[in-house]
Amino acid sequence: MSDPDCIFCKILAGELPATIVDEDELTIAFMDIAPATRGHALVIPRAHSRDVFEAGPEDLQATILAAQRLARRVRERLGADGVNLLNSAGAAAWQTVFHLHIHVIPRYRDDPLRLPWVPSAGDPEEIAAAAQELAGG
Ligand code: 5GP
Ligand code: ZN
Repeated sequence: MSDPDCIFCKILAGELPATIVDEDELTIAFMDIAPATRGHALVIPRAHSRDVFEAGPEDLQATILAAQRLARRVRERLGADGVNLLNSAGAAAWQTVFHLHIHVIPRYRDDPLRLPWVPSAGDPEEIAAAAQELAGG
């Protein structure tokens, strides 16, 4: 269920800080520490699985439904014009954290993001401001 070496399991356990913006019985969503665009968040199942190859059907279903919920919120509350839902499975596919996650990346008309993006540290205040708009069902 949980992997002691996994940073996302540590976030789930409250051992590492994260700005949580949504949760349900099987998933949580929190802000990405190095956002590709304003409002970039990650949805993960509470149960540890490495990637989409390994995850069970119930967790996969709950995770994509949670991503849809957050994607809708991103459009309504942040004024995004579109959303990229992105999942990487395996290092060759750019996965760097090996706990299944779906990136919810708000897209704004004419934003400069090009995939794959090169992550760089986010501005904590700006991340917190976007989180405030997203948090709470
Ligand atoms: P991946 O490259 O595996 O698809 O995505 C991992 C994501 O996790 C990256 O976008 C990265 O910025 C984010 N990330 C890595 N470490 C942390 C962390 O400690 N806290 C948060 N909130 N995000 C993290
Ligand atoms: Zn984990």
